[in-house]
Amino acid sequence: MRAGLYYAEHEAFIDSVSKIVDQELTPKVSEWEKAHHFPNEVFTLLGQQGYLGLLISEKYGGVGGDYKLAGAWCETFGELASVGLTVGVNMHSLVISHALDLYGTEAAKAHWLPKAVTGEALCAYAFTEPGAGSDLANIRTTATRRGSSWVINGSKTFITNGARADFILVLTKTDPNAGYGGFTTFLVDTKTKGFKVSKKLDKLGWHASDTAELFFEDVEVDDACVLGKVGEGWKQAASNLNWERLMLTLTSLAGARVCLETARRYSNDRKAFGKPIGEFSDVRGYLLEMERKLLLGEALAHRALDDLTNHRDCRVLVAAAKRMVCDEAVWIADKAIQIHGGYGYTTEFTPERWWRDLRLMPIGGGTSEIMASIISKELARKA
Ligand SMILES: Cc1cc2nc3c(=O)[nH]c(=O)nc-3n(C[C@H](O)[C@H](O)[C@H](O)COP(=O)(O)OP(=O)(O)OC[C@H]3O[C@@H](n4cnc5c(N)ncnc54)[C@H](O)[C@@H]3O)c2cc1C
Repeated sequence: MRAGLYYAEHEAFIDSVSKIVDQELTPKVSEWEKAHHFPNEVFTLLGQQGYLGLLISEKYGGVGGDYKLAGAWCETFGELASVGLTVGVNMHSLVISHALDLYGTEAAKAHWLPKAVTGEALCAYAFTEPGAGSDLANIRTTATRRGSSWVINGSKTFITNGARADFILVLTKTDPNAGYGGFTTFLVDTKTKGFKVSKKLDKLGWHASDTAELFFEDVEVDDACVLGKVGEGWKQAASNLNWERLMLTLTSLAGARVCLETARRYSNDRKAFGKPIGEFSDVRGYLLEMERKLLLGEALAHRALDDLTNHRDCRVLVAAAKRMVCDEAVWIADKAIQIHGGYGYTTEFTPERWWRDLRLMPIGGGTSEIMASIISKELARKA
């Protein structure tokens, strides 16, 4: 596995994750894609082997690993032909539980993290609203003081794991006049009165993943449910989004790599005009271009991962990596379909699923256009 070269120190870990992907999950994943659902037992299976606690402190049952270990996970687990399942798991374990570990109160961490690490309690992150995605500062969900409690009202949409989550980190506005200091994130137990999953969304891809619209009507929570401090929601969101974007980038790299390998194999096996199609210059050219884009993407993404792991500022680098890798992964999946000809368009082969699934990556976690605007703002600042 080529990703293994960069992650040489995690070779044994990569082998064990590959085994789970190949032996436990791949045989069942097409069935789950068709059912538009994967069972919670996937979380418990991964939890039993310690894979849900890679970034979580040992105190709460985690491994206490760094972003590079998490990157090795993303690029290996990401080889599973169900990006929705992969990201559903990664959002739970690498992004949301990790955010709770970084910012949560001791009481919230002690209550939820041990269960999140075993897969007994599942979580979601709710930023996006029907009227505010890229323009996140424009969210309308509010949390207002009532006595010693906070009362949350509003709706969120496109929330991964939204229908199955036991707790959700919800970005709200607590002070509309305080600019970026007016945002606060709350941990909401989904059993709380007033919380409702309004609907599950039907999608082009990510079929096995649940993506939900959520409704909060007078949802009452106490101070222990504030993530960090009141007014810190925006700062936390920016920092978490940076890692979430890199997680999506590394997951896309894995998918692109599988597409290239699948296409390369097919180009050797499939014959036309008496020879393997891989001998035609057009097909060779596609494979060459797929490899070139993958190598460039790997170099950029791994540089960003090095920076993040070593606590260096890498917001612009992550934006550049996400934009490049996520856009090119869709191109690579598209060429994998082309190389498979008519079979590539059927559900009998995986390139069509990879294409549908990877198509979300230039949208989720911040669109390619927003990544470009982060880069151009930095250029303007330097100028
Ligand atoms: C399957 C799925 C899972 C998701 N999971 C989650 C989740 O778990 N939690 C969560 O909070 N959200 C989640 N999202 C939401 C996702 O992050 C948003 O869809 C994304 O941020 C884009 O927001 P939007 O859909 O409102 O698009 P919009 O912001 O309306 O954008 C529409 C178009 O306008 C462009 N655009 C907007 N502003 C600019 C600008 N300034 N410059 C140039 N172009 C611009 C965009 O790039 C895009 O092309 C998920 C979405 C999907 C589809």
